[in-house]
Amino acid sequence: MSNNCIFCKIVSEEAKANIVYQDEQVTAFRDIHPVAPTHILIVPNRHIDSVGNMELKDEQVVGHIFSVARKLAEQEGISAGGYRLITNTGPHGGQTVFHLHVHLIGGQRMRFPMG
Ligand code: 5GP
Ligand code: ZN
Repeated sequence: MSNNCIFCKIVSEEAKANIVYQDEQVTAFRDIHPVAPTHILIVPNRHIDSVGNMELKDEQVVGHIFSVARKLAEQEGISAGGYRLITNTGPHGGQTVFHLHVHLIGGQRMRFPMG
């Protein structure tokens, strides 16, 4: 638990969120400002600031986040149409919450280009 981290508070249920999935490693909840019909954030339960702070031991949980994203996409009914997974990293990457997370976004055709 990192001090004053909103995602740590959501994981521990100290702060409210619409949690759609949780296990011993990760928590998934709906983004408070959805940009598409499905917009879910998947986070490791253990605080990691960003991809820039990942350690070797974090590889397993980050892989697990992608497996959970695939399952949630199926549950949301967006697997066949496709979806986007995004991890913003650092200020230039547009990261605003410094607890590593993957955005699962879908339910409409995504716009290009990125960047
Ligand atoms: P980032 O910009 O760091 O990639 O994404 C942070 C995301 O977290 C944003 O899409 C923002 O809407 C979402 N967010 C920020 N604070 C909260 C919160 O308290 N609850 C929920 N559910 N989402 C949040
Ligand atoms: Zn945190």
